[in-house]
Amino acid sequence: MTPPATSATNGPDPFAPDTAANPHARLTFDLDVDLCVIGAGLAGLSVALEAAQQGLSVAVLEARRVGWGASGATLGSVMPGYGVPIGDLIERIGVAHTGELWTLSREGMAIVRARATEETMPGIALTTGALEVSNVDLGDRLIDRLQTLGVDFGTAVEGWQIERVRDMLRTNRYFHGIHFPDAFQLDGRRYVRGLEAMARRAGVRIFEDTPALGIDFSGIRKRVATPNARLRASDIVLAGNVDLGAPSPRLTATLLPMWRAAVLTEPLGERLADAIAFAGSIADTDGVDHYRIVGGDRLLWTGPETTFEVAPKRLEGLIRRRIAALYPQLGAVAIAQSWSGAIGQTVHGMPQIGELRRGLWVASGFGRQGLATTAIAGRLIAQGIVHGDQRWRLFDPFELVWAGGRIGRVVGQGVSIVERRAAMTAGLLARYRERAAVRSRLREERLQAANSRVRSAGGQRRADAPPRDRAEPGAQDARRGEPGPIE
Ligand SMILES: Cc1cc2nc3c(=O)[nH]c(=O)nc-3n(C[C@H](O)[C@H](O)[C@H](O)COP(=O)(O)OP(=O)(O)OC[C@H]3O[C@@H](n4cnc5c(N)ncnc54)[C@H](O)[C@@H]3O)c2cc1C
Repeated sequence: MTPPATSATNGPDPFAPDTAANPHARLTFDLDVDLCVIGAGLAGLSVALEAAQQGLSVAVLEARRVGWGASGATLGSVMPGYGVPIGDLIERIGVAHTGELWTLSREGMAIVRARATEETMPGIALTTGALEVSNVDLGDRLIDRLQTLGVDFGTAVEGWQIERVRDMLRTNRYFHGIHFPDAFQLDGRRYVRGLEAMARRAGVRIFEDTPALGIDFSGIRKRVATPNARLRASDIVLAGNVDLGAPSPRLTATLLPMWRAAVLTEPLGERLADAIAFAGSIADTDGVDHYRIVGGDRLLWTGPETTFEVAPKRLEGLIRRRIAALYPQLGAVAIAQSWSGAIGQTVHGMPQIGELRRGLWVASGFGRQGLATTAIAGRLIAQGIVHGDQRWRLFDPFELVWAGGRIGRVVGQGVSIVERRAAMTAGLLARYRERAAVRSRLREERLQAANSRVRSAGGQRRADAPPRDRAEPGAQDARRGEPGPIE
């Protein structure tokens, strides 16, 4: 078996295994458990922890090492919802069903929040609040969204006017914003490590460097083949994301791998606080940028997505230029670290959570919003196995859809570039319109002034009986191609 392709990492490995503290052996002996989880990312660890807490014996098989995949790359932003715009979800499954899914995502946030305390995960560095900013002048759309999120789905949200957004983020690139005061951020890597430690304490056995090579479904107890041993389990959870491979090629084919690069800048000093006064995470509505301040004066920033793996080092320049375009006042920004991870994007944009066939479960396709959604997947699947709870069926409408293979990747990359360009062009136009609006306002003010000068001059003329063909210079200017006087 060819091991899954490695996540490209530049510089010091941001998720180097702490082998001294966490010596996870390979599986070298045959083992019998209630539940076998394939993949030790956020999804696999979440299911394993929940299932062990419910009393099951659990083994996790990890082809590389814990957090090797996308989970070791996150920016640590925990938001409500899924990767699909809420309006699209409502259109597809209706308001009531969307509302139930939305509530689940908030339950996922609460699970993460309860786990990630300074006591349980020292150094987790919690910050609160998230700002979703628009690259274009939204106006009515913003009000609609606020109504849906706040009134219909009971989410704590606040609409910010342009001035307030720009007061916090000193760039003219952004217009309105939606503030999520209950969203929060944490150190993503520490969270994965913390989850791993919690799972271990709950009795989960984690085997690293142990790829699952295939599954034999015959018999009540299924058998999972690994290079050196076999494992038997009543239930199996496929949580291998885009690298799952042989255990279920069909499932792997439903995910479009999207590589996302991230950078951590060198300390930027006080100039950063002058540019960005918001302490939580910032993302634009087009999904172009997602960033936040960490460690007081550094930026953590995710860059563009590609459907083919690109060394993160090669994307550093692009991200630097993006930072400079938004915040030129920061001057030259040095990058301390860059890395990337492959997220699994489904065709419908929703995660794959549920039972595929008796005893075979899936937890994958979490896209860009994996922290809260993997937490809820863990809970739903564990409760489904242990108690027969059927809440996972809320994800039934989102079936496994083939992602298009290699052609899908090429098309996906094209769409991503086009969407990115479209978003940037829309932003450019919006800023142009804004500048045009300012120019027009100044013109109006000049006109008002000219008109009032004309009026007062007219009054004066009436009093002094001036000749009719003499006019105020300002009023003449106003007649030269400017709109008529505003009364
Ligand atoms: C740069 C970046 C920033 C992000 N920021 C955020 C953020 O701020 N907030 C947020 O919510 N989400 C974020 N995400 C998304 C989030 O990271 C993912 O949704 C989430 O980590 C997916 O977790 P997973 O467990 O499904 O997959 P992975 O983390 O990819 O885990 C899958 C694991 O399965 C293993 N595996 C695969 N096949 C096998 C096999 N056959 N046998 C054994 N093991 C196998 C792999 O080695 C891997 O370790 C970000 C992603 C990236 C890339």
